[in-house]
Amino acid sequence: MGQPLYSLHNHTPFSDGAYLIDEICEAHLRCGFEVAGVGICDHLFATPSSREVTNEREFDRVFGREARNYIASVREAQQRWSGKLQILCGAEINWPLNKHHLEHIRTMLQGVDYVLFEFVDWAGLTTLANQARRWPCPVGLAHCDVRVQFPNTPMQQVVRTLANARIIYEVNSKFIPLAEHDAWFKTLREHRIFLTLGTDTHDDLSVIKTLPVMYAYLERLGLHDKLIVPHAKPESPAPVSSTA
Ligand SMILES: [Zn+2]
Repeated sequence: MGQPLYSLHNHTPFSDGAYLIDEICEAHLRCGFEVAGVGICDHLFATPSSREVTNEREFDRVFGREARNYIASVREAQQRWSGKLQILCGAEINWPLNKHHLEHIRTMLQGVDYVLFEFVDWAGLTTLANQARRWPCPVGLAHCDVRVQFPNTPMQQVVRTLANARIIYEVNSKFIPLAEHDAWFKTLREHRIFLTLGTDTHDDLSVIKTLPVMYAYLERLGLHDKLIVPHAKPESPAPVSSTA
């Protein structure tokens, strides 16, 4: 394998996953191929529904502590696994639920290495593209089937938008067999686009086995060089706490 594998989409009981961070890490170490890093990527800003939160103070009260606890628990796991496995702290954010809270959410992500948005439509992607570089960490699209989510937009336009805004495209196990998405993946070849691998592991650790399958597909298309390891931007500003 040309590049170290990073498995960047794993849920824990913090949101709707069945396995603890340590169990997910152990499964990756035992999976039969080398995994360099695991990204925990739980849903944030989702329960109770952020749709019902109407102002920033309320949003911070409901979700601020939750986000801080989550980031702290992933950071603790990072220490525990130091030297054995790299752990990254991701967050998955539901776009329709949170699109009106983005300004505030951006201030609550200190210590998050990357954010994956799910259920983004074309209007959402253009909004996100305009602000992606202002986020304290790289942002990406979680398990996005471009034909379904952007049915009226040419693939060339989608990929140009992602590349220009440096929005990550996650290659997800849900799309296996990836060859069914050949048209999309071949479009990526001519562009400077960032990719990550994700399994969206919730309650079935066997899905980890799809990582080398996805990698092999990307390698065959010459896309494996586009895989990146996202990290929080070092220059990210200190979080603004409304309770300070
Ligand atoms: Zn997920």
